[in-house]
Amino acid sequence: MLDNYKDKQDLIYNLIVKAIKNNKISHAYLIESNKNNTVDDFVLAIVKAVICPFHYTNDSMCNDCNICKRIDDGNYTELKVISPDGLWIKKEQLLDLQDEFIKKGVENDKRIYIIKDCDRMNGQAANSLLKFLEEPVENIYAFLITDNINRVLKTIVSRCQILTMKNESGNFDSTIESLANLIGNSKMEYDDIVNDGKYQKMIDGAIKFIDYFEKYKFNTIIYNKKIWHDIFKDKESNVIGLDLLINFYYDVLRMKIGIDRIFYKEYMDIFTFVGGNNSLDMILKKINILLDVRENIKYNLNPTLMMDKLVIDLGGV
Ligand SMILES: [Zn+2]
Repeated sequence: MLDNYKDKQDLIYNLIVKAIKNNKISHAYLIESNKNNTVDDFVLAIVKAVICPFHYTNDSMCNDCNICKRIDDGNYTELKVISPDGLWIKKEQLLDLQDEFIKKGVENDKRIYIIKDCDRMNGQAANSLLKFLEEPVENIYAFLITDNINRVLKTIVSRCQILTMKNESGNFDSTIESLANLIGNSKMEYDDIVNDGKYQKMIDGAIKFIDYFEKYKFNTIIYNKKIWHDIFKDKESNVIGLDLLINFYYDVLRMKIGIDRIFYKEYMDIFTFVGGNNSLDMILKKINILLDVRENIKYNLNPTLMMDKLVIDLGGV
């Protein structure tokens, strides 16, 4: 039952329950398991909560209805589980799934497929999955599972909402945990900047840059002049701009690991979007790239070249 995970996986729990209550379940979730052994049980609990109509309705929860029992017994036909056949997930497995789901779809019935070890997919299999993800069919939902998100094809990752599980001791992996402590406890100097009206134009500019980049990736280079250099003109303002970008991604990180200290609260939509499109690992990589570029600009490298390089490096994450 999903409520067993209310404390252990509080972030994902809250997100999923909210989505169910508001009828806003994403078409595809990618669960980063952090080598947590309860991942299969956890995903099944989520799936039950999504499929069974008696969960989280009127604040009540299902108590073993027929649907839930069939899911538990592994013979609910609207739920398919795919795992590697030998070493790899094969293209045929995905084609069979799509055939079956699309052809015999019963209207209004929610259908779900789970793909275990989704990083173990060869190119052909990944391509047929991509086609499925690119044209979401109503009432079909995907739950992909991996313990190594870096090995999942980027184009697949970008079409899923990423959910990062805590490990069994209730933490994220050690690097992330220590970083969380660091940013959670460090004294933030951004109160001043954010609350000082004279920086508002720069803050808007930085957020607009992120919004644009997260949606259009490499294309951002073409517009770097308009969306960045026209606002951040000299070295000093470029460094502040980079600081603002770094702080934004730190905020996303805080949001994802449940620290309630977000500075740019008025940009919640963009946060949620960026948070959904980036795993913790990806955000950490982006912060590192930004820190690097900030240093380079500080030490007099050409801001125009550095910002082009920034887009290329960020786009490769
Ligand atoms: Zn039920």
